[in-house]
Amino acid sequence: MTSKKLTLDVDLGGTKVAVGLCKGEEIIKKAIFPTQADLGFDAVITSIDSAIKNVTKDFDKSDIKGVGIGCAGQINSENGDVINSPNLQWKNIPLAKSLREKTGYSVKVLNDVRAATLAELKYGSGKGLENFCNIFLGTGVGSAFVIHGKLLHGATNSAGEIGHICLDPEGPLCGCGKKGCLEAYSSGTGMENYVKDQLAKGRKSIISDMVEGKIDEVKGPIIGKAAEQGDKLALESIERIGAYLGIAIANIQTLLSLDAIIFGGGIMALKKYFWNNLTKQIDKCILPVAKPADGLKLLEAKYLNDAVIIGGAAIFA
Ligand SMILES: [Zn+2]
Repeated sequence: MTSKKLTLDVDLGGTKVAVGLCKGEEIIKKAIFPTQADLGFDAVITSIDSAIKNVTKDFDKSDIKGVGIGCAGQINSENGDVINSPNLQWKNIPLAKSLREKTGYSVKVLNDVRAATLAELKYGSGKGLENFCNIFLGTGVGSAFVIHGKLLHGATNSAGEIGHICLDPEGPLCGCGKKGCLEAYSSGTGMENYVKDQLAKGRKSIISDMVEGKIDEVKGPIIGKAAEQGDKLALESIERIGAYLGIAIANIQTLLSLDAIIFGGGIMALKKYFWNNLTKQIDKCILPVAKPADGLKLLEAKYLNDAVIIGGAAIFA
């Protein structure tokens, strides 16, 4: 008897469900269906099932080990329940159990950032590392930790959220409702809000012309274009990402003495504008003894859009 070689791996988001049929880290076939979260839980299960049927139709189902799901929100990875997912508007939903009953496959669920981190650990930039933090810089700041070679879940299945470390209790409002979180500074949203705030205060910038005075239309790509043209406000809003991220990383490194930090997400396209600030701030704020002799490794993630799908495959590796 040959051992099963394939896995079905799901990136379950608020609008789209992407399913990959994988052989290890290789995606053999992929399908994307609308999640249909607004139609309720059963509709989402049907969407996942349809995507699974689509990618498996030419394959021998007895060769499939199971379904690995990465889902936004707080997940009980022991039983595959979704404790709370604001994106899907779910609370205490038995996702693994329901999909197992519908499809007959074994189903495992992880938080999506943790799934992407597992992909880096098993196949990507974190391979061979014992202790690291994987940070996703996008609209928000997502992150997860690997400690002693294993994902850190914590007592409430919410461990590792550096995006919501408080850097200034009187700072700008964060999406989580608190003030001064790292995410309020070092995310796409934080960058946009800073530019909007400065423009509203009368600051001069070519961004005003680019949005024809409509401050609400300031978006990340516009700020990126303005930075290319040397616009001071645009550059400042991006440099600020590095400055605050550097403080947070120095703090977690002082606390945990990691081997490396891995960075991914769309904001990394602006790396050349904030990297210098980031490394300077880490050096300034870190406890010297927490710095590895050959320097703290700052690595880029191997996987971009398919990180969560490959994370699903990594659950079964
Ligand atoms: Zn927050």
